[in-house]
Amino acid sequence: MAKLDDKICIIGGGPAGLSCAMYLEKKGYKNYTIYEKLNKVGGKCWSPKIKVKHNGVEEELSFETGAIMGAITYHAVSEMEEFGGYHHKGPDFKEKEPNMRREFRKIDGTIEYPFDPKKDSSLGKIFKLLKLKRQMKKLNKLMQTKYVGYDCYGHLGIAKGEYYGISKGVNGYCGATKETSFPNYIKGKNPNLKDLALPFAEFCKINHIEEVQRIWIAPFTSFGYGFFDEIPASLVLKYLDVTTALEFVNMKLWTWQDGTQAIYEHVNKKLLHPTILESEVVKVVRDGGKVTVTIKNKSGKETKQVFDKLIVTTPLDYFAKYADATKEEKELFSKIIHERYCNYIATFNEGKSPNISGYMVENMVPERLGHAMVYYNRWQYLDRDCPATVYALANHTGSKDIEYDKVMKMMDEDMKNVGFPIKDKLYAQEVYYCPHVSSKDFLDGWYDKLEALQGNKNTYYAGEIISFGDMEDTCAASKDIVGRFF
Ligand SMILES: Cc1cc2nc3c(=O)[nH]c(=O)nc-3n(C[C@H](O)[C@H](O)[C@H](O)COP(=O)(O)OP(=O)(O)OC[C@H]3O[C@@H](n4cnc5c(N)ncnc54)[C@H](O)[C@@H]3O)c2cc1C
Repeated sequence: MAKLDDKICIIGGGPAGLSCAMYLEKKGYKNYTIYEKLNKVGGKCWSPKIKVKHNGVEEELSFETGAIMGAITYHAVSEMEEFGGYHHKGPDFKEKEPNMRREFRKIDGTIEYPFDPKKDSSLGKIFKLLKLKRQMKKLNKLMQTKYVGYDCYGHLGIAKGEYYGISKGVNGYCGATKETSFPNYIKGKNPNLKDLALPFAEFCKINHIEEVQRIWIAPFTSFGYGFFDEIPASLVLKYLDVTTALEFVNMKLWTWQDGTQAIYEHVNKKLLHPTILESEVVKVVRDGGKVTVTIKNKSGKETKQVFDKLIVTTPLDYFAKYADATKEEKELFSKIIHERYCNYIATFNEGKSPNISGYMVENMVPERLGHAMVYYNRWQYLDRDCPATVYALANHTGSKDIEYDKVMKMMDEDMKNVGFPIKDKLYAQEVYYCPHVSSKDFLDGWYDKLEALQGNKNTYYAGEIISFGDMEDTCAASKDIVGRFF
């Protein structure tokens, strides 16, 4: 167990690293240092400011290249908001606040209404909608009965038919009492939970609820989290538990006026030790009960610092390459798969930008890998003058990866075909996204093996891999790790 005066190194100044620092402080640990390789905090919550012009008026607004939304189930993010003193907008939005309204478009640009019986009251459509409604109800019931214990953070025990973690219950702060802000864990046995290690498509099939994928696919696959034939159901349902999925359907989501990055900038300012920027951890040596970390600054100069404990919030498969990884670490981390999610913020030909966000469901299948799946219009009052972010996935287990440059071109073409010809790309990137393991490795106890390594060599693993690659799950994972090991 750690001691309050331990010197703690945190690698990464994203939501996971900053939340680790916040929770350490809440527990009385004051001797920590966060290293971040970039010149900004927030990691994949990156919200650049862009000058826009509408009706002759120029202003500067935040746009999103990474995380956009939260929901009522974002308890750990709420704690970050509270700490930083910076809060979300929504779910009821006022004018000039960024919101999540959206439409559905076919790839030829036609608008479709997959869930609106008023727009298409054909018998076939009504029958399909009724079937969907029945299966949604069934899924909700299954999760509360057959799959009791599914809705805590992380995947501990699932491969053995057990659950252990912080409850995601809607009321309260991750099950924590407000006084201590540290969680009570829920724990139990439920052999049915092993089904959660199956790919989500298979999970739906064995439960005869295949239709529900029509609801889950848009906020899951188009948000870069992979395809349902490959991603274990546990990941899908940790992020989109029934409550969160319904918040999507009912468009009751949160956004942040200055972007999600602002949450973490505010937290960083309030920390006793704000993140040390432009400091990449390039080497880690753990021996003699100490952790020696080599940090490279922006001019390439390397320095060494010695710590008692290390918290890694960054990709573990990369960590294995620059640290003195043990045989177990190397073997375990080599199993990690990540999505290649590509996006760009674009401006469009005059008066030709989308004036509302849109899903292109036809492109959310492996056969259409590399095609634009969703575009995000953030400021609807800018109407057809608003830049938009466009997103595509570049990999799928069992398909050939699509090169970055090709994905960029395919997205341009797709946007032109739906009627939104791109003028300029302002920020374009490919991100390491949604780290996870295959169903086979999941069933083989991957997450329990990671748990068994926690604390070995004074090292703790946090970040996206623990539960899921969204802001809430990463911040809650920090709360869990700090709560249990510090
Ligand atoms: C396009 C997109 C859309 C998204 N939409 C949503 C959404 O709507 N809602 C939601 O909740 N989440 C969303 N997410 C996911 C969310 O942004 C991530 O899950 C979250 O940022 C993960 O936090 P993290 O700290 O674990 O990792 P990261 O955000 O990746 O942060 C890791 C940090 O570590 C730094 N780092 C890496 N290696 C080193 C090193 N060796 N030394 C020092 N520093 C290092 C990196 O530069 C980075 O700043 C989205 C992400 C993207 C990209």
